[in-house]
Amino acid sequence: MEVLYKSTRSGEKPVRASEAILKGLADDGGLFVPDHIPVMDKSLRELSQMTYQETAYEVMKLFFTDFSEEELKSCIEKAYDSKFDTEAVVPLAEAGGAYYLELFHGPTIAFKDMALSILPHLMITSARKNNVKNEIVILTATSGDTGKAALAGFAGVEGTRIMVFYPKGGVSPIQEKQMVTQTGANTCVVGIHGNFDDAQTGVKRIFSDRELAEELAEQGFQFSSANSINIGRLIPQICYYVYACARLLAEGRVEEGETVNAAVPTGNFGNILAAYYAKRMGLPIGKLICASNENKVLYDFFRTGTYDRNREFILTSSPSMDILVSSNLERLIYHIAGDDFGKNRELMEALTSRGSYEITEEMSAALKDFYGNFADEAETAEEIRRLYESCGYVVDTHTAVASAVYRKYAVQTGDKGKTIIASTASPFKFTRSVMKAIDGKCQDTDDFALVDRLSVLANVEVPRAVEEIRSAPVIHRGECDARDMKDAVRKFLLEGRI
Ligand SMILES: *Cc1c(COP(=O)(O)O)cnc(C)c1O
Repeated sequence: MEVLYKSTRSGEKPVRASEAILKGLADDGGLFVPDHIPVMDKSLRELSQMTYQETAYEVMKLFFTDFSEEELKSCIEKAYDSKFDTEAVVPLAEAGGAYYLELFHGPTIAFKDMALSILPHLMITSARKNNVKNEIVILTATSGDTGKAALAGFAGVEGTRIMVFYPKGGVSPIQEKQMVTQTGANTCVVGIHGNFDDAQTGVKRIFSDRELAEELAEQGFQFSSANSINIGRLIPQICYYVYACARLLAEGRVEEGETVNAAVPTGNFGNILAAYYAKRMGLPIGKLICASNENKVLYDFFRTGTYDRNREFILTSSPSMDILVSSNLERLIYHIAGDDFGKNRELMEALTSRGSYEITEEMSAALKDFYGNFADEAETAEEIRRLYESCGYVVDTHTAVASAVYRKYAVQTGDKGKTIIASTASPFKFTRSVMKAIDGKCQDTDDFALVDRLSVLANVEVPRAVEEIRSAPVIHRGECDARDMKDAVRKFLLEGRI
């Protein structure tokens, strides 16, 4: 049955998957949501015999219903190839009684690669299907990981350009180096004076600027988004939850029908929303454990039913989760309101005007599958040390937040059910914080010296992605104020430089 995509904010005519992928955001500023959630048509037992690529096809074919089998399989083959440093693509590591689903074996060693290695192919295919002749311009705001993963995905892809805005000083040195050394004439990286929310708000404003869109269309450009609001990112993220459930069954670690919890370090709410969709597709997923760092807007939301962004923005050691407005939460709000765009729009308008909104009791009741909690900086570092000392397993700061929250959950609820922890970045991406947690003494060595020490301690080879940037020259030096982002976009597209 065909799946069409509707806006979360109005009754606009639903569009096909390829159109939703091209547009990124609906014209009314809402997000695209599937008009129904398809149910998995293969049993977990059947899935347990499949490779990652085969599993991905089984999931994506149910959502991207206007793609042919050949188109979809070609996208999948191009995305999940030797760019990943392990054949399993997403290996499961058991440590300390939980299963760490390692989503960081792609080209930029963070989980964003899972979606961003396929998005360019989905997008080019969508453009072809819809007779689009314009160059596709990807605009992305990043809190660190999306930027590099999007750059790596789109660099050199014909018919596309990509522009990435990151908060100057708000990402790790290795993250910044990864981005500013990006090659490819169709790429542009700009550090903005502001935080991630400023960058994201700026990008959203550019997307909804009709005048600019018309001006650029005359020059043969059209915008699209690689942010996690694009369904071309969200749907590929469902695949690894399905794959993980199937692997646990294949390896005899769970019984048929036994549920598995998913603990997810959360920022923009894309990753955990994918787990929610996997559950609604019929996968045996139990609790959805939403883990926050000290920017604990989501924890407060699950606890009180009020989402309130009016608070101090805190820079933490898990910068990809330093977010006060979790864009993808809008999709969940829409669903728990009974797929009611009017109700959702009301709440989103309150968020824009007042910075907060409150959901009804009925909506709260629909959140029973979620558990929210947070880990502060000390707890995060402690979790890294604990796992290292007790199991010799080293996790990054984001994964440590989820791991610490999972342990709080297990203690509070007594639930002994099997749990998957989404392991969203390689510890080599956040080496300084990880080393500080494990061995406080070696703080003033440079980042790459720390990388080498971590490699010895963790008994893990330095990932290729880190080796590559050791000596790479800086290519992008652009900076601007958040309010000047539109000018930067115009300059890059019309003059080729900012
Ligand atoms: C993006 C990111 C997150 C947050 O994921 P969301 O889908 O935005 O909730 C967590 N950890 C890492 C390492 C990330 O890059």
